[in-house]
Amino acid sequence: MHKRIQKLRQKFLENEIDAIFISQSENRRYLSGFTGSEGYLLISQDILILATDFRYVEQAQKESRNFEVVKIKGELSEWFPNLLSKIKPKKLGFESENTTFAGYQKFTKVMKENSSVSKLCLIPLKGTVESLRAQKDKNELEKINKSVILANSAVKYAISEIKTGMTEREIAWKIEKFLRENGSEPVPFEIIVASGPNSALPHAHPSNRQILTGEPIVMDLGAKVEGYCSDLTRTICLGEQSQTFKEIYDIVLRAQLTAIADARKGMSGKEVDGLARAVIEKAGYKDAFGHGLGHGVGLVVHELPYIGPNSKDILTDGAVFTIEPGIYLSGWGGVRIEDTVTLEKGRVKAFIE
Ligand code: ZN
Ligand code: ZN
Repeated sequence: MHKRIQKLRQKFLENEIDAIFISQSENRRYLSGFTGSEGYLLISQDILILATDFRYVEQAQKESRNFEVVKIKGELSEWFPNLLSKIKPKKLGFESENTTFAGYQKFTKVMKENSSVSKLCLIPLKGTVESLRAQKDKNELEKINKSVILANSAVKYAISEIKTGMTEREIAWKIEKFLRENGSEPVPFEIIVASGPNSALPHAHPSNRQILTGEPIVMDLGAKVEGYCSDLTRTICLGEQSQTFKEIYDIVLRAQLTAIADARKGMSGKEVDGLARAVIEKAGYKDAFGHGLGHGVGLVVHELPYIGPNSKDILTDGAVFTIEPGIYLSGWGGVRIEDTVTLEKGRVKAFIE
């Protein structure tokens, strides 16, 4: 945790702030270790404060030993000036993407009404902690590893259980139950089981449609272990595979393996996306791959870096992200293959072999 705080403090100068107010829940957890659902961090160059209400004070003291835990109560106006008096910042950074317009109005109202904070300058920040989170440390990689292994066992279990006549919802529930019974926290996103024409929708909701032989079945699922997510997709077919299925599956797999083999540290998200996209385009399915190649995975299932045609994010060692090319043909169905991987010594490393 201390290293993370150090890295954050190094960003104070470039952002021209002397303290930062953290309200985003995963950022709060990342910097303090506090897992409660309510609380704020106030961090200056030499002070660490975690403000939370009475329900969480004891938990916060246990989980965030480096922080001074301050109990807060009621409206922002009742505790904010008091909290700031401990640091007296002149320029306070806040997380603009996690602050609603109404929330911002509350801040400015409190500042207007309290002489002690009326001269405070609020500096909107974007992705300050999120960019730190993009590079995982050893401890985080171990947790993600457990999460990936669990998701992988769940999909293997589903493949062994799946039979024609079962509905998408039945299978989705079997997967979710397996994940929970084998150590996952509440799953990070709604599990997708999409069969036949439904699989042409990248984000289909499991329906009561019964699964038939010979059609694509897309299963997209993730586990959450000690706060860390994984994200995995497999596409299967019961019974005999049609020529189309074989052809599409082969292209998608080649696209994924190409990106895994050729992605390097220092490439942008756009460049990595291009590795897989080129394979799909060359095979004649340019318009059938309508989403980005992947996304970072960590405390949340979609985080930095983004891997897509518009992404300028640069891949670094310790980045954890998905590689998930797909081909979707309206009326027929789709094939997507997704794995969560990391970059180590400049190259892609799989969590599972
Ligand atoms: Zn997924
Ligand atoms: Zn994904």
